[in-house]
Amino acid sequence: RAMSSVTIPPPECMLRPLEVPFRYLFGPGPSNVPPRILAAGGRAIIGHLHPEMYEIMNDIKKGIQYAFQTQNNMTIAMSGSGHAAMECAIFNTVEPGESVLVAVNGIWGERVAEIAERMGANVHIMVKAPGGIFSNEEIEKVFVLYLHCISLSSHNDDSSFKFKHNTLFLVDTVASLGASPIFMDQQNIDILYTGSQKALNAPPGTAPISFNERACQKMFNRKTKPVSYLFDMAHLSNYWGNDGQPARLYHHTGPVSGFFSLRESLAILAEKGLEESWRHHREVAGYLWKGLEDMGIKLFIQNKDLRLPSVTTIVIPEGYNWREMLQYMMKHHNMEMTGGLGPSTGMVMRVGLMGYNCQKTNADMVLAALADALKNCKKSKA
Ligand code: PMP
Repeated sequence: RAMSSVTIPPPECMLRPLEVPFRYLFGPGPSNVPPRILAAGGRAIIGHLHPEMYEIMNDIKKGIQYAFQTQNNMTIAMSGSGHAAMECAIFNTVEPGESVLVAVNGIWGERVAEIAERMGANVHIMVKAPGGIFSNEEIEKVFVLYLHCISLSSHNDDSSFKFKHNTLFLVDTVASLGASPIFMDQQNIDILYTGSQKALNAPPGTAPISFNERACQKMFNRKTKPVSYLFDMAHLSNYWGNDGQPARLYHHTGPVSGFFSLRESLAILAEKGLEESWRHHREVAGYLWKGLEDMGIKLFIQNKDLRLPSVTTIVIPEGYNWREMLQYMMKHHNMEMTGGLGPSTGMVMRVGLMGYNCQKTNADMVLAALADALKNCKKSKA
C-alpha cells in the first residue's frame, strides 16, 4: 500500500449517505418547508453579482415591503438568521455610549440587551415576567435620552406609537410576521426585522429587515464605523441597490439558494394575501386553543387577544416532566414541540403552526400527540 501523505483519514461518517428524518416541525421554528420553496432552493446556483440575481433581490425587496407594509427604500434581507438582523439593527443605529432601552419579557429582549451591551451601548431595561405586556404609554413615556431602541418580541396589536423625543423604535417580528398584523409605516416603526424560517416557511438563514428615513438619517450620519464589517448597512445598502449608486460592488457572497427560497416564500405570501394569511392563522390558532382547553390544558397567556396566533404557549400540565413529554412526542409521533427559553424555561411548552403548517389537521395531530403523552408519560405523585 502506497504511503499516504495525509495523516487524518477520511471520516467514516462521510462515507455513509446523508440521512435526514421526516419530522413534523410544530415547535417555534424552523417550520416545515413546502415543496415549492424547497424546489426553489434546489435550483442551479448563479453568481451573487449576476444581473438575474439583482432582479431576484429586487423582487425580495418588494416582497418584504409588502409583508412589512412599508415603502421604505432601505429594505433588504440579511445573509444570516434572525440574530443577524438583531445585530444589524443595533450595530448600525447605535454608537458606543448611546442609550438603548429594551422592553424585556422573555429571552429576545434579553438577547437584544446583551447585543447592545457588547457593542458598548448604555443599556436600560424594562423587565416584565415572561409573557408580560407593555402598554403603549409605558413604551412612550420613558423616552428621555438621545436614542432608544425597543424590541417587542411579540407584538400583537395594531397600535401606533408617538415618541416625543429623538428615539428610534425597533420591533422584532421573527415569530409573528405573516401570522399577525403589522403595519410598519402606519405604526411609526423605525426598524423592523423578521426571520425566514417561521410563518414564511423558508429554510433558516436569511432575515428581512427594513429601516425608515429617520433610522437612515441616524445610521448614515454616525461618527464611528459599525463594529461589524459584514453587517455594515453602508455596504449592504449598496449590495441591495438601495444607495442610488450605478454599480453594486462586491461586499460578501450572499446565500444565493437562501435568497431563491426566500423569494418563493414571499411570493406565496403575496399570492395568498396578508389579510387572508392573518385570518387563517387566527382561525387555526383558535381551533387549537379550544382543543387544548377541551383537554384540560391551560394556555399560558390568558387573554385571547394578547396571544400570538403563530406560536401557542401552554402551561406544563401539573405533575408532568415537560422534557419527558417532548421526548415522548418526538419518539412516538415524529413531532417537534419545544419547551420555554431563557426566563420561560420550565414554565411552558410551545406549539407553532405557521404558514404551510397552519392547518386544522395539524392541530388535530398536535392534540392527539399531547393526549397520548399525557396518557403515557409518568405523573409524579407530588
Ligand atoms: N426573535 C424572536 C422573537 C424569535 O422567535 C427568534 C427565533 N426563535 C429570534 C429572534 C432569533 O432568530 P434566529 O434563531 O433565526 O437567529
